Amino acid sequence: MAWNHRYTQPRPTQERLYVERVPVPDTTCPSCGSSDIARYPVANHFGPRMATKCQKCLHILAMDRPTDEDNWPPFRSVTYDWKASPGERAARDALLRELAAIDR
Ligand SMILES: [Zn+2]
Repeated sequence: MAWNHRYTQPRPTQERLYVERVPVPDTTCPSCGSSDIARYPVANHFGPRMATKCQKCLHILAMDRPTDEDNWPPFRSVTYDWKASPGERAARDALLRELAAIDR
């Protein structure tokens, strides 16, 4: 997949958009014993994630960071997977030290 594939998606032709819940075979829910397990994209307070959940009791079996093949989120920054620069890390560490000093 080219780096720009998320920027050139065509206009949807369907009247309604929906998320496809892909069945996960040979897996059993540890909470209720159901074999109705599906993997699909979600957006929660951690950001975009791929959820693997029991469809009967909604027990979460896995909550993974999306891979490039998952195509989720549909638009993402080119720098999405880059590590923070040393300057950003230093500023973040300084902020955490400042906040820790306030808590004392
Ligand atoms: Zn279950």
